[in-house]
Amino acid sequence: MMNVSRKEWIAFLLWLFIVPTFVYIGYSDFPYFDIDYGFIIVNFVMLIIAMSVVFQISSVNLSVERWIIFVVFFQYGFFAEMIFMQFALLLSQFLRKSNLPAFYRFTTNSLMFGIVSIISATTFHLVGGRLTDMSTWGFVVAALVYALSYSFFNSFVLYLMLKLEKTSADMVKKISIWDFTMTMIVLPLAIAYSLLTDIIGAFSVLLLGAPFLFILLIIRKFAFSDELNNKLSSAVEIGHELTESLKTSEVVKVFTKKLRDVVNYDQAYILDVRHGNELLLLVCSEAGSISSKAEFFEFHSDAFRTLSTTSIETFKSNRDVQSLEHLKFSSAVQSVMTAPILRAGRVEGFVVLTSFRKNFFEELDKKMVGLLNGYFETSIMKAFHYEQTIAKSEVCGLTKLSNYRYLKKQLREEMNRFENKELETLSTIIMDIDHFKSINDTYGHQSGNEILIEFAKLLKKYETEGSTLARYGGEEFVLLLPDLSKEEAIRLAEGIRTEVETHLFRITSDLSEDYQSTAVHVTVSLGVSSIPEDTQSENSLLRNADRALYIGGKQAGRNRVGVYEADGRQAVEI
Ligand code: GH3
Ligand code: MG
Ligand code: MG
Repeated sequence: MMNVSRKEWIAFLLWLFIVPTFVYIGYSDFPYFDIDYGFIIVNFVMLIIAMSVVFQISSVNLSVERWIIFVVFFQYGFFAEMIFMQFALLLSQFLRKSNLPAFYRFTTNSLMFGIVSIISATTFHLVGGRLTDMSTWGFVVAALVYALSYSFFNSFVLYLMLKLEKTSADMVKKISIWDFTMTMIVLPLAIAYSLLTDIIGAFSVLLLGAPFLFILLIIRKFAFSDELNNKLSSAVEIGHELTESLKTSEVVKVFTKKLRDVVNYDQAYILDVRHGNELLLLVCSEAGSISSKAEFFEFHSDAFRTLSTTSIETFKSNRDVQSLEHLKFSSAVQSVMTAPILRAGRVEGFVVLTSFRKNFFEELDKKMVGLLNGYFETSIMKAFHYEQTIAKSEVCGLTKLSNYRYLKKQLREEMNRFENKELETLSTIIMDIDHFKSINDTYGHQSGNEILIEFAKLLKKYETEGSTLARYGGEEFVLLLPDLSKEEAIRLAEGIRTEVETHLFRITSDLSEDYQSTAVHVTVSLGVSSIPEDTQSENSLLRNADRALYIGGKQAGRNRVGVYEADGRQAVEI
C-alpha cells in the first residue's frame, strides 16, 4: 500500500490538473444570464446545513447535499455547481470528523466531486439538456439522466478511492445502493424546486427548501436512534462476551479490542491501580494492535491524582490534553477521555481513550464507555474471583506448594508440549521422606508438620523457571522438569538427597514439656523417570518414578536415588 504522503501528493497533483482547468472551462461560458444572488446565498446556507446533517443507515453515512447541488446545476449550470461544491467542501472540512489529514481530505474530495460534476454535466448536455428554453418533459428526462450518471460515477469514483483504502467490497456495494436510493429520492424534489424557481423565483426557498430541511432534521433524529440501537446491541454482545471470559487477562483483551465497535478512538489504554494509588499499564491498543507496552503514552506514578475517580471526563483540544499533569500523550493527540473502573465501589483502574481529532468524544461515547465499564467491572471481578478460587484449590495449605490437582494439570500441559514437539524431554523426580512415621511418633504430629514445611522450603530452591514442584501426598513430593534429560535429573536428585542428609531440621517438640527447640536429621529417598527414555505416556511417568523410588530407593536401604529402568531392573545410585 502507498504511504499517505505519496498518496497525498498524487491526489494534490491530480486535483491541480483537473479541478482548476475545468472550473476555468466552465467559467468561459458563464454567466448565461442574470444571477439571483439572494437565491444563491440562501441555497449556499442550505447546502452547508445539508452537508452537516450526516445520518447513518445500516452503518452507511448519508447526507442529502445533492438536492441543492442539483438545483444549482439546473438553475445556473456547471460552473456555478462546481464553485458551489468546492466552497462547500472547504467549509465542510470544519464540520465533519475524519481520520484523514485535512489537506488530503480536501484535495481528494474536491477531485472526486469535480470529476463527477464534469461527467454528469456532460451527459446532461449530451441528452439535450439546456438551462433555458426547454420543454418541461425534456428537462425532466435530461435531469433524470444527469442524476443517474451523477450517482453512477460517484459510486464508481468512490469505489476506486475505497479500494485504495482497502474497504470491503460489501461496504462499497452498500454505500452505492444507498447513494442511488438517496439520489432518486432527492431528484424529484430538485426538479420541483428548480421548476418552481423558474416560476416564482427565490420565493421557492420558502415553499420547498425550508420545509425539506425540517424534514431532514427529523429524519436525522430517527437515524440517530438507529445508530444508538446498533451501538446498544453491540454493547450487549460485548457484555456477554466479557462475562464468558474466565481469565482476567482475557477480559482486559476482549474489552480493549471490542470497545472500538461502539466508541471510535485512535488509542486505548487500560491502567491498573496498585497499592491504592500507583498506576500500571495493563494493556493498550495503538495503531490497531494490542500490546502491554505503550509507545505514545507515558505516565508518572503520581498520575492517579490527575485522573477523576468519580466521573468520565473528556479533554477536547491539544492544549487541554497537554495540560494534564503527569500524563504525557503524543503531541498529535487532540482529544482524551478518561473513565474510572470500579470494583466493589473502589477505583481499581482507568480506561484512557485518545483521538487525533479535536472535540472528538461526545456525550454518547461517554455513556457507551460508562455502560461497557459496568460490564467490564463485573467480568473482571468474576474472573478475578475465579482465578483466586482456582489458585487456592491448587495449593497445599500446609506447605504452600502446589498440590496434586495442579501437578496433574501441569503434567497434561507438558505432555501436550511434548506431543507438539515443543519439548524434547520431560523428567520427573518423586521424593518420600524416610521413616516419617517414626518422626511423628517421636516428636509429635505438629513437629512432623514443621519438618514438612521446612522440607518444602528446602525443595523450593530446586524449582527453576518452567519446572513444577508439588506436594504429591503426605510426605511425598514431586518435581516435574521439562527439558531436563534423565542424566541431569539423576544428578539433581542426588543433589537434593545430599542436601537433605546434611540439613538440620529445627522443630519445637510438642511432646516435650518445655517446648524446647530440637534439631533433627532426616533422609529422603527419590525416584527418577523420564520421557522419552522410559515411556511416552502421561500416566506411566509418575508410576515409573514411584516404582523406582520404592525399588531403587526404599527397598535398597533408603536415602538413595532409584532410577527407573525399562527392562525391569532398578539401578541404584548413591
Ligand atoms: P518410609 O517412607 O521410609 O517407608 O516410611 P514412612 O514412615 O515415611 O512411611 P509411611 O508411608 O508408612 O508413613 C508416612 C507417614 O507420614 C504416615 C503419616 O502419619 C505421615 N503423614 C502424612 N501426612 C502428614 C502430615 O501432613 N503431617 C504429619 N505430621 N504427618 C503426616
Ligand atoms: Mg509415604
Ligand atoms: Mg516415607
